[in-house]
Amino acid sequence: MRCGTLLDPATRTAKRDVTVYLADGVVVEKAPAGARVLDLSAYACLPGLIDAHTHLLLQGDPTEVEYDEQVLKESTPYRALRAVAAARIALDHGFTTVRDMGTEGAGFTDVDLKKAFEKGIVEGPRVFTSGPAMSVTGGYPLLGYSWERKMPDGVLKCDGADDCRKAVRWQVQNGVDWIKVYADRSYDRTPDGGWASIANFTPAELAAIVDEAHRLRRKVAAHSMTPTGHRAALAAGVDTLEHGDVLDDETVKEMAARKVPYCPTITALDSVRGPRSRTNPIWNEIWAAAETSFRKALAAGVPITFGTDAGGFAWDERSEADELGFMVAWGMTPWDAIRSATTTAARLLGEEGKLGCLTPGCKADLIAVSGDPTKDVKALSAVRAVVVRGVLVRGPR
Ligand SMILES: [Zn+2]
Repeated sequence: MRCGTLLDPATRTAKRDVTVYLADGVVVEKAPAGARVLDLSAYACLPGLIDAHTHLLLQGDPTEVEYDEQVLKESTPYRALRAVAAARIALDHGFTTVRDMGTEGAGFTDVDLKKAFEKGIVEGPRVFTSGPAMSVTGGYPLLGYSWERKMPDGVLKCDGADDCRKAVRWQVQNGVDWIKVYADRSYDRTPDGGWASIANFTPAELAAIVDEAHRLRRKVAAHSMTPTGHRAALAAGVDTLEHGDVLDDETVKEMAARKVPYCPTITALDSVRGPRSRTNPIWNEIWAAAETSFRKALAAGVPITFGTDAGGFAWDERSEADELGFMVAWGMTPWDAIRSATTTAARLLGEEGKLGCLTPGCKADLIAVSGDPTKDVKALSAVRAVVVRGVLVRGPR
């Protein structure tokens, strides 16, 4: 790959006129025999981007109406087909790796997608899976239907420490890479201006989940919007905090000290806040709090990892790269925003030195863009070529 410029997020350096050699799906030192040349000299090359929070099996749920429709009216095979289209969109936007954070009623279809992409049955990004995600009885849609109806669940529900431990084992048996839990729900304000919500799990349940996951060599990602959730999640020892829209000082301090990654997912919040606030104005307050939370975490040195919650907004509605624009608007430098989707995200996935980099030994995931993303991250919305697993899947154009 002849690159006009090569960006190295790990060292925050850009070099002119660099050739990157790829062989057998990895970056190598020298040109392999009989190598074909791909001319990307008009573009800036950088490692394929990582979205650490997606839902391939969801196609937008601004309100519960859209969510329930998908879970109730669409078969799992149909949802899998839509997920393949979503995965294609992710690739076209330059995202060569996704950490998928819950299939929303589609079981372990994410594990099937991952397998199909790895085998080259269809083109798709690398997928880190979490299966159906986990909550408790009464804690997650589908909700509000007649008690006489047997409704499907958007998550795997467990109650009691032993049952939750067994649920983690079931997830692992079916091939998940991560355990995703919902730490809090039902966000509200207290009379004194604080935040209140319901912690889904008891401390014993969440501790059992984290302990069993770690015993089985899996990490735990916690959906947590408000301090009630953060308190519970951090006490249980989760590995990443998802959304974190309302971060109090105590949480920020603890996350910075323990280097717990924070995955803000601003793009999805921006997409759902309008529709959701029509029936519940709390979503306007959550949006207002999100920027303050992001700035506090940034100033404190919390590891901020790129994640969009794509699927929460329709995959064809906007690009996941919009997240970079929010991050920069909220105080991050373009270089650090790029690092959040490469270096930092690779670390979260335990793939440091393999993903999010283009030095010899790194996996051959590369994108080319017009313009200089280190000056203006909007350049990352103009993806000209995409290589994943050493295969050109888009462009150059
Ligand atoms: Zn999510």
